[in-house]
Amino acid sequence: MQCPLCGHPKSHKHGKTSKDSQRYRCSHCQQTFGETFDTLSYRRQISPPTLQIILQAHAEGSSLRGLSRITGVAYNTCVSVVRSASHKAQMIHNQDVQAVATNVINADELWSFVKKSKSTVNRKNGV
Ligand SMILES: [Zn+2]
Repeated sequence: MQCPLCGHPKSHKHGKTSKDSQRYRCSHCQQTFGETFDTLSYRRQISPPTLQIILQAHAEGSSLRGLSRITGVAYNTCVSVVRSASHKAQMIHNQDVQAVATNVINADELWSFVKKSKSTVNRKNGV
């Protein structure tokens, strides 16, 4: 198993946690970690299928309270899972998508902000 902390390719089994899941120890950085380290189920009492249901239903547009009711997972946990997944996805995106050379941009939505000058605001308020 590769060390998630330093990237060393070899780590060894290092006993079990109190929850009876396998612990590993990196021979390079001497750190220990479990199987779920750096995953969405790390330090959460949610099974991977439930995680998948939460994320899939969220992507389909279900409300977070609805997800909480359907899966039986606390609302705050649903929010936390969605935020963590979003953060991870953003990290992967930022790592892989860099300096994209483009000639044509195809935008399906464009937002703009037009600033109101102070003189316009003052004129409307009668100042
Ligand atoms: Zn390591």
